[in-house]
Formats: sequence, structure tokens, C-alpha cells
Amino acid sequence: MSQNAMVIVGAGHAGGRAALTLREAGFAGRIILIGDEVHLPYERPPLSKALLKGESTLEACSLFSEAGFIASGIEHLSGVRVTGIDVREQRLTLDNGQQLEYGKLLLAMGGQSRSLDLGGRRFSNVHYLRTVDEAVGLRARLTPGTRLLVVGGGFIGLEVAATARDLGCAVAVLEAGPRLAARALPERLSQTLLNLHRDRGVVVHLGARIESIQGEEALTAVQLASGECLPCDVLLVGIGMQPNLQLAKDAGLETGSGIRVDRFLQTSAPGVFAAGDVCEFPDGEGLLQRQETWRNAETQGRLAALNMLGHQQPISGVAGFWSDHYEFALQTVGALEAGAQVIAREGGDGGFVLLYLNAQQQLMGASGWGRGNSVAKDIKLCERLIESQVMLPVTQLADANVSLKGLLRGAHV
Ligand code: FAD
Ligand code: NAP
Repeated sequence: MSQNAMVIVGAGHAGGRAALTLREAGFAGRIILIGDEVHLPYERPPLSKALLKGESTLEACSLFSEAGFIASGIEHLSGVRVTGIDVREQRLTLDNGQQLEYGKLLLAMGGQSRSLDLGGRRFSNVHYLRTVDEAVGLRARLTPGTRLLVVGGGFIGLEVAATARDLGCAVAVLEAGPRLAARALPERLSQTLLNLHRDRGVVVHLGARIESIQGEEALTAVQLASGECLPCDVLLVGIGMQPNLQLAKDAGLETGSGIRVDRFLQTSAPGVFAAGDVCEFPDGEGLLQRQETWRNAETQGRLAALNMLGHQQPISGVAGFWSDHYEFALQTVGALEAGAQVIAREGGDGGFVLLYLNAQQQLMGASGWGRGNSVAKDIKLCERLIESQVMLPVTQLADANVSLKGLLRGAHV
């Protein structure tokens, strides 16, 4: 019987973290983790970086070691898809025909890659990147000299472009908008990415529109509306992701851009929680948002587990993400567009940190760019400055010699 079981739909990052936290927090009953992938939960960031480059493995990305997983006593239904939720009877339907009762339920179904419209045609060399199996499939194609065409100048597109260049591929990127990663990044960072990728030999087409495609079994070329024809051996689509909402919608749960939850990650159905990419939640001001980041999956997975156990802890903390390109990294924390003022602190070696301040001269967000982990310390300090809500001396901030640590000490936090 599983009426008292903690059941998690989606054995990805948020789901895996929640299962682990339930056990670590002392829950001794049944924990059932259901995932349509065949693997134990793993972290996705390496899929476009180290794993794609052949410098990491699935085991290294996994949230559990095999032995640790067995010891945890968590039940993993792998390769199993949940097809229905009856929230009144607290019962799930699985694609293997089974039904499963739950005590508390966590929905952590993440999302899937948005499809590129290829007129209903299927090609053997068109790739997407969301799962480790897709990463392994793509990696096999990225041999030196391969002509890779990337559709989408967002994070997947650009990180794969960098990895593929490092692997010796010829790379072109098609971005529909006027600048790279425009939805997530401010102008200066888009420009920095553009300069770097062009410098490393990536041919970037902004404002690109695909007019037609050529090929039979494999796609061989893409014709742009501008008239250019781009031949390719492999095409990677990275044009965004769509949260997996259908299950929740069919179950009658409230949804918006994601499964809607309150500040305790509780959905509109009693005993049902949501976390990660699939979840739309209120920020401190009550504004609804959905995030697609490692940090969000990690913190919400943890929080959902605690609240499934009745802890009633509200969402807290600051948002943030990173992205790696060649030997450079971008790191962000907080809200990047919310500031009344943006102040740049220039570092050495082309690195910089942008500070976003509101009208009260408080830090709302920061984004840093530099070699390796060079901006990590500043971004960490910015996180603490955001949390402190201290009023900052705007006129001095652009001076990189004015220490962020000193400002934080002044805030007495
Ligand atoms: P997921 O990890 O997607 O897990 C959801 C799981 O649920 C999947 O396994 C899915 O198959 C399964 N599922 C869905 N529906 C069902 C169902 N009905 N039944 C059973 N199982 C189901 N973020 C960063 O901050 N920095 C990065 O550098 C970064 N790099 C990334 C690189 C790549 C290639 C990708 C794809 C993402 C990257 N991200 C990065 C984003 C980050 O990985 C995601 O935000 C995070 O994985 C979301 O976790 P999740 O648990 O919500 O969803
Ligand atoms: P994304 O970051 O939303 O970027 C998609 C890009 O493709 C956008 O710039 C978009 O422009 C553009 N685009 C959309 N349709 C297009 C078309 N038909 N032709 C050309 N360009 C088009 O999504 P993603 O890069 O695919 O990433 C998917 C998921 O993985 C996201 O959840 C992302 O957060 C996650 N991810 C994160 C990281 C990271 O944080 N470092 C790294 C990799 C992946 P518009 O905005 O104008 O639509």
C-alpha cells in the first residue's frame, strides 16, 4: 500500500534533490521517484559543457552514487511515465497501466525542448539537447571539421557552439532576435558574447529567418530569408524550452506560465507540491515567475521536500545562474533588469561586474563576466549585498578599488 508514500513525478534535478532531502530530513516511509528517463537523477549543466566535450560522465553528473541510492531506500520507477493524476483520490496512473496512491505528491516534470518547425519532416542529423542521451548522441557527431549549424542564440546554442569549436567543428549560429540571449541578459553581456564567439570563429547571424531547408534523409543546407545558403552536417536546435504542464492541467490544477504554487510550493490541490522548471511561484513582492536554472531546481527541490513534511517554510533567497563559454564564465545573481541604474565595475583581463540598483540605491542584481571563476567572489558578495538591502554609495561603485566586502561590512550583516 502506498497511501502514505511521498511520490515524486519527474526524476530530474528538483525531483532527485527532493527525494534525497526527504530521507535526510528523517522521513522513514516510502519515497517513490517516477521518471520517464532510464537514469538516476542527474544535473543537466554539463550536457552542453564538460559531458558534451567528453570530459565528464553521467556518473559524475548524477545526484546519487549507485551505492548511495540503494542505501537511501528510495524506490525509483525508471522509464515510467505518469499519464494521469486524480487529486481527489490521491492516485496516479502510469503508462505501464499501473495505478499508484500517494500521501503527498511533488510535481517536478521540468520541460522539453521547443521544436523547430521543419514542415513536418524528420532528418537524421537534427538534434535537440535536454537529456543525457541526447548529449551522447550529439557528442558522437561533433568530430573535427564537422559543420554544425545551431538554431537559437540562447544558452544551449552558445554553450554548444563553444564546445563544438573546442572540438574542432566549424560552427554557425542563427539567432532570430537582434542580439544574443536577449531574454535573459542585458545588452552589454549579449555584445560580450557576440564578440567572443565571433573572435573564436563562430559565424553568428542575428535577425536570422529560415526561408527553406534542403535535404532528404539528412538536412544538408538552410536557406535564410537574407538569401544566404548555409550548408551543414549537423543541426542543433536550441530555441527554448516548454514546461511540461499538461499533466497538471488535465488534473485541474491552476497553471499560468508554470504549475502555480504559493510561497510554500503548494499547488491549488491539497498535498500536491511543484518545484523546478515546471513551477510558477510568487517572488517576495508576490509577482509570479518561473525560472529555468540549476539553483532554482536545487533550492526548490529541497524546500518542497521540507514542506511535504509539514515544515511550512516559505520560498526565500536570491535567484542566480551561470553560463560557460570557452575559458570564460558568466555569473548572475538577483534581478538584472529591475535596477533604476546600472553601474559597471571594470576588472582586469576584460572582466567586469554590472550592478543593478533601484531608486533607493539598494542592489537588486548583479552580473559578472570573466575568465574561469574570476567573478565568483564578487557575485557572492553581491548576493549578500542584495540580501542586506543596504543603501550603497552610488558615486563610488564604479571604482573597482572600492571593495564590495567593505561595503558589506558597513552594512553590519
Ligand atoms: P528536469 O531536470 O528537466 O527534470 C524533469 C524530469 O521529469 C525529466 O527527467 C523528465 O523526463 C521527467 N518527466 C517529465 N514528465 C514526466 C512524466 N509525466 N512522468 C515521468 N517523468 C516525467 N542552469 C544553470 O543555472 N546553469 C547552467 O549552466 C545550465 N546549463 C544547462 C544545460 C543544459 C543542456 C540544460 C538542458 C539545462 C541547463 N540548465 C542550466 C538548466 C537546469 O539544468 C534546469 O533548470 C534544471 O535541470 C531543471 O530541473 P527540473 O528538475 O525542474 O527539470
Ligand atoms: P533560451 O535561452 O530561451 O534561448 C533560445 C534562443 O533562441 C532565444 O534567443 C530565442 O530568441 C531564439 N530563438 C527562438 N526561436 C528561434 C528561431 N526559430 N530561430 C532562431 N532563434 C530562435 O533557450 P535554450 O538556449 O534553448 O535553453 C533551453 C533551456 O536550457 C532553458 O531552460 C535554459 O535556461 C536552459 N539552459 C540554461 C543554461 C544556463 O543557464 N547556462 C545553459 C543551457 C541551457 P527569442 O528570445 O527572441 O525567442
